[in-house]
Amino acid sequence: MASARHFTGDKLAIASHNAGKVREIGDLIRPLGVSVVSASELDLAEPVEDGSTFQANAIIKAKTATTASGLPALADDSGLAITALGGAPGIYSARWAGADKDFNAAMAKVEQELGGATDRSAAFICALTLAWPDGHTETFEGRIEGVLVWPPRGSRGFGYDPIFQAEGRDITFGEMDPVEKHSISHRAKAFAGLVAACFGSS
Ligand code: IMP
Repeated sequence: MASARHFTGDKLAIASHNAGKVREIGDLIRPLGVSVVSASELDLAEPVEDGSTFQANAIIKAKTATTASGLPALADDSGLAITALGGAPGIYSARWAGADKDFNAAMAKVEQELGGATDRSAAFICALTLAWPDGHTETFEGRIEGVLVWPPRGSRGFGYDPIFQAEGRDITFGEMDPVEKHSISHRAKAFAGLVAACFGSS
C-alpha cells in the first residue's frame, strides 16, 4: 500500500460547524503543535452531505473546506449506528435532531424507535478526512461498540452521548470525563490512524 502523505504545516481548518466536534478535534490535534481554525471562524458555507457513507461525506466536507480556505482541512463525519434499527440513524444522526439540533428530541426518537427491542447494542462510527488544497485526501475510520441506556445520563460531551455506554463501562459518554472519552472514542481511534499515517515519524 502506498504510504500516506505527511502533514508538514502548522495550521489546519476544521471543516465543521458543530461546536462539540470542533472542541474534541481541537483537543486532539493541539498536542501535535498544530493550530486550528474552525469553519465558523472562517465563515465557510456548510456543504450538502449527499454521500452514502461516512467516508464519502467526510471527503466532501474536507474538500469543500480546503478549497474555500486554502488551508489543509480536517473533516469528521460520524454518527450512531443502532443494530436493532438496521444501522440507523447512521449518516443521518445529525438530521434526526432536526433544524433546531435538538438532541433531547433525537434521543427520545431513538428510544421510541427501539420500542421494546431487547438488542440495545449500537456503535459510534467516525470517518476522518484530511484534505490538501491540491485535492489529495487521506481518510481514516474508527468505531466504538456499546449499548444504549434510557433515560439519558450526564451533560458532558454532545449529541447522543447521554444515552451511549461504551462496552465494559458503567457510565455514559455524557457522564465521562472528556479526557477519558478522548482516549477511547470512535473519533480518537480514527485520529490515531491519522496521526500514525500523516503525523508520525518516517
Ligand atoms: P455530522 O456532522 O453529519 O457528522 O453529524 C454527526 C452527528 O452524529 C452529530 O451531530 C451527533 O449527533 C452524532 N455524533 C457523532 N459523534 C458523536 C459523539 O462523539 N457523541 C455523540 N454524538 C455523536
